Amino acid sequence: MKILITGGAGFIASHLTDLLLQEGHFVICVDNLITGSLHNIKHHEGNKSFKFIEHDISSHLDYKDKLDFVLHLASPASPVDYMELPIETLEVGSLGTFNALELAKEKGAKFLFASTSEIYGDPLVSPQKEEYFGNVNSIGPRSVYDEAKRFAEATTMAYRRHYGLDTRIIRIFNTYGPRMRKNDGRVVPNFINQALNGNPFTIYGDGRQTRSFCYVSDLVDGIYRAMKSDIHTPINLGNPNEFTMIELAEVVSRIVAIPLEMISKPLPEDDPKQRRPDISKAKKELGWEPVVQLEEGILKTVKWFKDNGK
Ligand code: UDP
Repeated sequence: MKILITGGAGFIASHLTDLLLQEGHFVICVDNLITGSLHNIKHHEGNKSFKFIEHDISSHLDYKDKLDFVLHLASPASPVDYMELPIETLEVGSLGTFNALELAKEKGAKFLFASTSEIYGDPLVSPQKEEYFGNVNSIGPRSVYDEAKRFAEATTMAYRRHYGLDTRIIRIFNTYGPRMRKNDGRVVPNFINQALNGNPFTIYGDGRQTRSFCYVSDLVDGIYRAMKSDIHTPINLGNPNEFTMIELAEVVSRIVAIPLEMISKPLPEDDPKQRRPDISKAKKELGWEPVVQLEEGILKTVKWFKDNGK
């Protein structure tokens, strides 16, 4: 297939690009490089099945050739990034989604939208099933991301219902692994860098809030299965094993072999208290579940951060 992927130089999309190329597809990577990096795709330089277009998908993209699939993954995704880039985040979720959908419509291509567990907000039920409508503060600092993604889900469904476009929606839960930016502000790169530099772990709030961390190779396997499926309603993709931030700090300190030292920082506004996917739908419909456990994934990520100058 000829597959266009927005945000292709980003953390998750660049791993997905690797998989798609391995599977024999032609990949057109579109990225404006505001949070993505050419380093993530430089190993494809000279590959005849790969093309990079530097472009902001929030503006119209004129693409002449045929396309079989459009994957819309572009967006700042770390809370630190999207709070620093609030307008760009709202634009890529709204204008960017329209542009990506229009491109798919024009080419008669299939479409996949990468949504997020953030659409559940600070959830009042756990684990979160796809049927849960969420608990989102529409005017809080995280709303630029949460509401943009919710709007994009609505737009994707409208193109399906109104134009008959063949669409899919995945909801990605916390994912980690090589190629995360060391300064992107998320908890896994923060803790690994703090451990490697001999600094204490910064624990926001009491550290008892939970997240469920999925290793990136598991995630992209799930995305590829969703692409090949006929499931058009949202599917959660994430690792259902839930950890507190203190437990995560313990795992990282064990792996880097340093004493566990922590300092407290204020909890960011509207920081979700718990997050854990119910993945029964992905298991049943895609035959998918994560296989990389946290210790193994953190070990690989630590190795990558060491090899890539922390
Ligand atoms: N967090 C933390 N220390 C850090 C960075 C984040 O305790 O140095 C917490 C943050 O408050 C949140 C969780 O870790 O409860 C996950 O944050 P992240 O930014 O990775 O992603 P989120 O799941 O909030 O989008």
